[in-house]
Amino acid sequence: MLKIGRAEWEELRRHGEETYPHESCGVLLGRLDGEARLVTRVTRCGNTRADSPHNRYHIDPRDLLRIERQGRERGEDIVGFYHSHPDHPARWSPTDLAEAHWPGCSYVITAVAGGRADLTRSFVLQGDEGTKSFHDEEIEVS
Ligand SMILES: [Zn+2]
Repeated sequence: MLKIGRAEWEELRRHGEETYPHESCGVLLGRLDGEARLVTRVTRCGNTRADSPHNRYHIDPRDLLRIERQGRERGEDIVGFYHSHPDHPARWSPTDLAEAHWPGCSYVITAVAGGRADLTRSFVLQGDEGTKSFHDEEIEVS
């Protein structure tokens, strides 16, 4: 399960509206809460995919290292990632799975239809690089 506060939830959904018709992306910082991942901070990232920014997202590895380091200093870990799907459903794509490399993390996708955030869903990555798969997970907004 992914637990997220109302403000963080709205932040990641609004980001997708702001970057429409391009994808938004970012990192979810927080900590484990039993079996759940608890999000305490939403960090925006630039979309570095110049070739096709409307349907591909990529987080600069240097951004990711910086976010991870700054999180550690505050006692936060990377617990997930988010991106938007402009005018596409909130379903993971084969590319999303191929580019997911953090088992045990949540991958949150928001469908943005005509510039408005629609459905947001979360998938947890399981397995290792050769056997990895996404599994639907519940989102609890509090
Ligand atoms: Zn995607």
